[in-house]
Amino acid sequence: MKQSPPPFTTGPAAWIGSKPPLLRFLNTCHAEFAPETSGAVADYIPELGKADPDHFGISLATLDGHVYEVGDTQIPFTIQSMSKPFVFALALDTLGAERVESVIGVEPSGDPFNSIRLNAENHPFNPMVNAGAIACSGLIHEAKGDAAFEYIRQALGRFAGRDLDVDDAVYASESTTGDRNRAIGYLLRTNAVIRDNVAAVLEVYFRQCAILVTARDIAVMAATLANRGINPVTGEQVMSAYAISRTLSVMTSSGMYDYAGEWIYRIGIPAKSGVGGGILAALPARLGLGSYSPRLDKHGNSVRGIKVCEALSAHYDLHMLNRSDDARNSIIADYNIGNSPSRRVRRAQEQSILAAHHQDVRVIELVGTLSFSNVDYVSRQLAAKPRPQLVIFDLRRVTAMTRAGARLLAEEFRELAAHHVTVILSGIRRSSPDWKMIADWTEGLTNIRNYYLLDAAIEWAEDQVVYRYGGAIDFFEATDLSEQSLLAGLTDEELTDLASLAAIKSYQASEKIIATGEPATSLFFLRSGVVHVTLPDGIRLATLTAGMPFGEMALLEPRRSADVFADMAATAYEIPLRDFERFRKQHPRAGERIMRNLAQLLADRLILANAKLNLLTSG
Ligand code: GLU
Repeated sequence: MKQSPPPFTTGPAAWIGSKPPLLRFLNTCHAEFAPETSGAVADYIPELGKADPDHFGISLATLDGHVYEVGDTQIPFTIQSMSKPFVFALALDTLGAERVESVIGVEPSGDPFNSIRLNAENHPFNPMVNAGAIACSGLIHEAKGDAAFEYIRQALGRFAGRDLDVDDAVYASESTTGDRNRAIGYLLRTNAVIRDNVAAVLEVYFRQCAILVTARDIAVMAATLANRGINPVTGEQVMSAYAISRTLSVMTSSGMYDYAGEWIYRIGIPAKSGVGGGILAALPARLGLGSYSPRLDKHGNSVRGIKVCEALSAHYDLHMLNRSDDARNSIIADYNIGNSPSRRVRRAQEQSILAAHHQDVRVIELVGTLSFSNVDYVSRQLAAKPRPQLVIFDLRRVTAMTRAGARLLAEEFRELAAHHVTVILSGIRRSSPDWKMIADWTEGLTNIRNYYLLDAAIEWAEDQVVYRYGGAIDFFEATDLSEQSLLAGLTDEELTDLASLAAIKSYQASEKIIATGEPATSLFFLRSGVVHVTLPDGIRLATLTAGMPFGEMALLEPRRSADVFADMAATAYEIPLRDFERFRKQHPRAGERIMRNLAQLLADRLILANAKLNLLTSG
């Protein structure tokens, strides 16, 4: 008889349009493995034997918080041994690593999960076998007394992102039949691993094993392990990154009963299974998987669950030790300011200083994740060329920074500081966690600046170069029309005539001089101070100092296409357009000269814009 297609649900939001391929894949796994009926439901805890052997649910949680669900993902079942990793993490965070690690080992035992054997130091082999798990419950009981179980239940709830119940019947059933675990408990007390009331500790352990979860819950719990302890659905940091990485370590070596070695060899994803039929698999930085199917193989692992994990790992090549990354992709552009100056329009003297010393400022634009290898590569790229005086790291396309990456970056800054190189960061906010990491490791360094906009960073670096080479600028000093670039080539007489048409206007710092959309009825020549030109959305097009025109597009366009603001107290010559037109008629040669200068100015801007574009597209 043909299997009817499995039902599948899609998580909280219904799909609009096509199905994501991962959902299709999980759906195919479900259809393919549902006919698999080998194995047997665990019945050594009598109540577990009542599970419906046909139930089969697969759920996968991504680290951006999406949960895929296929089949019976809402059926509750008891967590059993899948509680062990979470209670171990909780013990680490509650009692401190030193205390926990002093009584519980981390070596695979090679014995069955319920073996009554301790290691050479008379400690449990690891926290994934019953002895180690009971020891963890003992530690929590030591810290929390009668509140221990509730403390555990709430912690597991934070991993799942919801409050979890307990199956009282399964708890009672295990408590009645749990003499083997009692034997382990007393063995632990004779060896001083459990210090207080063994009976109470065992009740905590039996209860924690009877916590009810669904396949969806364990997918989210696994994803929290895969996400350095941050629940991707609720955003809560549930446990410390230390506790999580150590938990994943013991899952890797001992999570799958006496099949653990083969599991990690073949599937390569840290996992834990439980006799209730669940398997939880956490692939760091990728995903969390939860499956539920109660028929178990001879090792105690869910038969269908194993098949799902095998298929997922093989199909997408997810073995955790099968990874590579090309650090060279992290630099999207690397240039000096010769090709890409700031939008500040410079006077001739400044221009010639910058032209001679453009090699002094290097700009490195980074992209993606700044990891250990990426930052190492960047530091070697920097070292490969003559050392600049200033380096700008543009981080606006950096999507993440690992701790190793941030640490190496901070060390690179120290290295640069030792050589008196100034570091300028752009594209990173001082409030961001990435900045905090860097700041922690660069305390005391005085050679680091931070400008959010790359253009502002380049402008500041240029200023440093200009000052260093003697181009000190007195912004307050007034200039006359003969120093205007747009008026180059005019005779004294022509300039005098033009000056008679101009009114000298003064502006306060941050005053708006020109507004987008207004009729363009005059031209301006900046006489002193600094102004900037921005688009209405705030993008800065240019910063201008004395000797430069603004609002000159009035010669071509009837309306203003950008805003102009004073950066500091500024003065300008303003010439009404109609007077200027009259001047052009009276002085046709000067008029033509000005239009030629304007054409040159626009051509220069275009060439610059093309060069900037080219930097980013030519890789
Ligand atoms: N409560 C079960 C026991 O201690 C858990 C076993 C398991 O899931 O491996 O026997």
